[in-house]
Amino acid sequence: MPNEVKGLNEECGLFGIWGSEHAAQLTYDGLHSLQHRGQEGAGIVSNDHGEFHRQRGLGLLAEVFSDPQKMTTLTGQAAVGHVRYATAGNHGVENIQPMLFDHPQVKQFALAHNGNLTNANQLRQELRAQNVTFQATSDSELLGELVQVSNQPDFISQLKAGLNHIRGGFAYIMMTPTALVAALDPNGFRPLVIGKMDDGATIICSETCALDQVGATFVRDVEPGEVVIVNNHGMTIDHFTTDTHLAICSMEYIYFARPDSVIRGISVHEARLRMGANIAKEAPVKADVVIGVPNSSLSAAIGYAKASGIPYDMGMIKNQYVARTFIEPTQAKRARGVSMKLSVVKSVVAGKDIVLVDDSIVRGTTSSYIVRLLKKAGAKSVHVRIASPVLKFPCYYGIDIQTTKELIGANHTVDEIRDLIGADSLAYLSVDGLVNAIGELNDTTNHGLCTAYFDGQYPTPLYDYQAGFDEEVARLGLYEGVQHID
Ligand code: SF4
Repeated sequence: MPNEVKGLNEECGLFGIWGSEHAAQLTYDGLHSLQHRGQEGAGIVSNDHGEFHRQRGLGLLAEVFSDPQKMTTLTGQAAVGHVRYATAGNHGVENIQPMLFDHPQVKQFALAHNGNLTNANQLRQELRAQNVTFQATSDSELLGELVQVSNQPDFISQLKAGLNHIRGGFAYIMMTPTALVAALDPNGFRPLVIGKMDDGATIICSETCALDQVGATFVRDVEPGEVVIVNNHGMTIDHFTTDTHLAICSMEYIYFARPDSVIRGISVHEARLRMGANIAKEAPVKADVVIGVPNSSLSAAIGYAKASGIPYDMGMIKNQYVARTFIEPTQAKRARGVSMKLSVVKSVVAGKDIVLVDDSIVRGTTSSYIVRLLKKAGAKSVHVRIASPVLKFPCYYGIDIQTTKELIGANHTVDEIRDLIGADSLAYLSVDGLVNAIGELNDTTNHGLCTAYFDGQYPTPLYDYQAGFDEEVARLGLYEGVQHID
């Protein structure tokens, strides 16, 4: 897997608003509730009667906007904002979104992206051949460049042509002087929702928790293949393709999304409760208390406790002011992050047989640290129950795991992982148990989910990544029959 490619992926949060006197402030508030999707950079572009103003920087949203003067520069009735996670080697402020592009007809446009393109290398080559020079190293700008080189007659036609040229996982929010425009890839890997304010302003953002944050009412999900255009005359739904196949990322339900969000009609909290209940049924164990790894595993732990009849208690607490370990960019930062953020409530665990529910094991760093913490606090035994299946395969659609080398589940059996993390027993939820827990997504051809992380069934061809993936499969020698669905 070329490092150049590995460094380009991201998991981000998007927020756009059209038609509000408080556009920039509402964008700030909405992004605040999407901070869990990216903590390395943030930016807002506002639109004041066609004049764009941008503020962006590295760090948490509150850090980027710590100087109150910055918000006062973001005038206008529309805005688009972005919170960003980037991998090592890709930390420059030039990669912080929204990006700005000049355009001969609409004058300029802003672009914010969540996801990862699987044909970015090929597109970059094609664009270089047309003498395009790039503003940054992230693949997020590729759509903007494709729009600029298109020979279609107008912005929306150029955009649709560009969207039909890119592959992978992508949710975009763009803004021209006269419209807010959103688009979602043909598989709908990432959530994207539309909401309405009482004063008539329209919002498009990554999760419903951001709509709740700003007092907006949910209107509908953006559907795969759609281009949504919002301007002073209202909202228009267009399509860049109708060849769609819903495969929303199951990790959104398991880990990424906030529990108070609803994705395609399914409450993330309720889905996690059912994941916990299903692993309780699949892997019961006698114990005194169920605890969850805060915060993303608490819903699943409550579900496990309810289904098993074992009491739930708050065995661990989290220091809220330390960033999430999975999205810290280096191993050293991750290890330090874990030790700073989790503490055990000794009175809950001392002398007890514990069921520890976690949402997933990626590298194993956090799990082994937590088991050690619990034993040090006097736990008699620690039975780890993972409310998702074993992570065995890389993700190429916007998550920072693009090689199986990083995945403990790809390189060890469950028994080996149990020993490596020091647990007394370890069990994972089955893929069927996961799909059942998330529930009916009303997709006629399959369950409507991407479960490639767990079963290697990629919903799209892998393009730039296929050769690297084939090498890994051969190296591991474990996964005969793995294929993507064309
Ligand atoms: S491979 Fe995994 S993380 Fe990536 S989109 Fe599919 S389910 Fe989500």
